[in-house]
Amino acid sequence: MEAIRKRLEQDLKEAVGRLRQIGGGAALDDLLGSTGEHWSFADEVDEIQAAERREIGYMTRELLVERVNKLASALDRLNDGEYGTCVECGEAIAPARLRVLPEVQTCVRCQDRLERLGRQLEAVEAETAVDDD
Ligand SMILES: [Zn+2]
Repeated sequence: MEAIRKRLEQDLKEAVGRLRQIGGGAALDDLLGSTGEHWSFADEVDEIQAAERREIGYMTRELLVERVNKLASALDRLNDGEYGTCVECGEAIAPARLRVLPEVQTCVRCQDRLERLGRQLEAVEAETAVDDD
């Protein structure tokens, strides 16, 4: 478990470092303290710089924020003794899966189910959007 903790802390530090480079360092403490909802507020008060940052890539930052959240919550779960348990079904997540993706919170089966559900929703949305008869 110590190896996983080190890896998670290392990954978290890296992701946080990259977020700092992109910008929004002040909001980062809020982010790590609670959820990621302070980000939109940070954009409002910091609009000029935000416009510059958008060139670097809004998606990149979104992904980094998501990764920081996942890694931070994985560390939380590690501290609570819940790490390695699927948040959906409560079964143990395969160690091999955790080695590849230490921040995952669901087992392969639940991940598949969630992704299928996501794709189905996307398909339904696409269908209703292209409603031309
Ligand atoms: Zn599961």
